[in-house]
Parts: sequence; C-alpha cells; structure tokens
Amino acid sequence: MALKPGVVSGEEYIELVNACKDGGYALAAVNCVGTNSVNAVMEAAAKKNSDVIIQFSNGGTQFYAGAGMEDAFQAKVLGAVSAAQHVHLLAEHYGICAVLHTDHANKKLIPWVDAMVEHSETYYKQHGKALYSSHMLDLSEESIDDNLNECARMLERMAKLDMSLEIELGITGGEEDGVGHDIEEGADSSHLYTQPEDVLKAYDLLSPIGHFSVAASFGNVHGVYKPGNVKLRPEILRNSQSLVCDTHGTGHNPLNLVFHGGSGSEKAKIAEAISYGVFKMNIDTDTQFAFAEGVGKYVDQHGNAFKYQIDPEDGTPQKKFYDPRKWLRAAENSFVTRLDEAFEDLGSIGRSLAK
Ligand SMILES: [Zn+2]
Repeated sequence: MALKPGVVSGEEYIELVNACKDGGYALAAVNCVGTNSVNAVMEAAAKKNSDVIIQFSNGGTQFYAGAGMEDAFQAKVLGAVSAAQHVHLLAEHYGICAVLHTDHANKKLIPWVDAMVEHSETYYKQHGKALYSSHMLDLSEESIDDNLNECARMLERMAKLDMSLEIELGITGGEEDGVGHDIEEGADSSHLYTQPEDVLKAYDLLSPIGHFSVAASFGNVHGVYKPGNVKLRPEILRNSQSLVCDTHGTGHNPLNLVFHGGSGSEKAKIAEAISYGVFKMNIDTDTQFAFAEGVGKYVDQHGNAFKYQIDPEDGTPQKKFYDPRKWLRAAENSFVTRLDEAFEDLGSIGRSLAK
C-alpha cells in the first residue's frame, strides 16, 4: 500500500487509518500553533519515516493568524486556512503523509467549524480536495441526542468534500483552550467514562453518512496531573468495539478510536488502547513543555544575549546568539526529540505509507 506524500484526505485518509488499525500502530496528532511547531512535526515525521497528524485548536489557529488580530473569530478561521495552505504546500516535500485536523469545538465553536468547512468547499472546487482531512466536534456537554444530531448535520456537509468527522462521547477530563472539564480529586468520576451503548448509537446514525472517528473517554485527561487521580480503563474501548461488532456483524475493531490526553500516559496503557482500535493519539502538553525546555536551556547558556547586544563582560557582539533563528531552532530541536519518543510509543516509526 503506497500513498502520495502530502496531505491525505478521502479514500487515502481511510487507507491510512485502516493501515494503522491493521498494523497495530497509531499516529501522533500534534497540536501546533505556528510554523515552528508545524515544521518541527514534519521534520520529526520525515526523520523517522512516520506519518503524522498536524492539528490545531481554535486558540492555535487564532495564534497562527496573529494574537494581535482584532477580530478573534476571523483570526480563528483565517489562521486555520493559512495553516492548512502552509502544510499543503510543504508536506509533500518532507516526503510523508500528513493528516490535517482541528481539535475540540464545543457548541459555541460550531460557527468556527462551519466557516472552515465553507473555506474547504471553495478550496475543493479549485483543487479537488478539502483544506482539512477532518474536524472535531466536541458536543459531549450536550445531551447524547443533541450531540449526535449536530454531528450528523456536520458530517452530511463534510462527506461531500471527502472529509472525516471526529466526535466525542463521554468526557475527557482536564481543560484545553477553555474547552473541557475540571478534575476534582476524590470526586465521582463515572462521567469520565464513555458508555458503549452511546457509541453504538453514534455508529448507527453516522456510519451511513460518512467516515467518522470517536474520541471515547476511558479515564484519559488533558494535561499532566499527579498520578492516581483518574484510572485509565482501556477495556471500555474494547467493550464499545465488541458491542458494535456483535450488533452489526462487522469485522474486528469496526470503530476508529482516538486517544485524547495522551501526554504522560503509561506506555502499557497506550499499547493496550492501540490494540482496541485507537489510530490517533493526541499530544500537546508534552510537546509544549519540550518547546519551552529547549528555549529555557538556550537562555541558561546564553543569558547575556537576552539582555545586551554587546556582552558587558568581554565586549563581544551577541547577535549570533539572540538571532531568533538560534533559540527558536533550539525549541524545534527539543520538540522533534520529544516526538521521536511519541512515535516510538505509538509504533509508527518506519511505517509511512508515502512512496
Ligand atoms: Zn482533547
């Protein structure tokens, strides 16, 4: 199985998802906020011959357009378009397959997703493919029926552009860009676990419309917290797969599952989740830290260059140290190194479908 390098969508995207599930590996879905992080993801993927998912939160796309842009909604939409165009142009030259995706959108962010899909409709007419491979709708705070009905409406629109939809059932703990849920220590955590019956309901409604994936909650949490607050229970994923499989007589692991809040997870639980049909694991917190750590180490080494243009102690010009390319590159290198580890955990190294 071989795909053209570059952004994948439609049939190619489905082939990639199926290759992950059949091959027992998953793709890292890395939250990006600008060209530094986007390029670092593509560099890491190329270096390890791994395919990868580049994703943006609504805050990430806003930052991509520029934090100073006055109209925040416009920034979130145009930032998403700009970021996608950047990846469409460059990904094929890195020689890997890249999936383009946007992260959590709750009820008040539905207009953001609709606006991005509108841009994809225009782009599709010109290029025969959408700007994004997929978007996520996270309506897990709504009733199950409201959640699924809105997902069905969006997927009808997106399926015409060969796009896939990621939905959320149950609640991922923690918070990401203001979307999310607080983790209270010692509180009842049953709401953090997806009910397999809800997954079956989603399958019944959405699979006739188009391709979709499910962010199922099995105790996963955004951010890195003290261990022991919530227990990961990947068997919830297995139970959801079995219920759909038994009800509809499908093949093994009919659902495409997504692991949110992957940062800081135990390696054995990651492997177990992949065996139950997880093809995508989100990573944000750990790569954010890696980016910051790279800059922090650089500043520790070249502190004077961040205060003086000429070193007050020995009179040497500091230009070659404060050049933003130097310290941003230190951040990129650290980001790439952290992704090497993620690809290793997910088993995606050496498995790019790009030829
Ligand atoms: Zn998430």
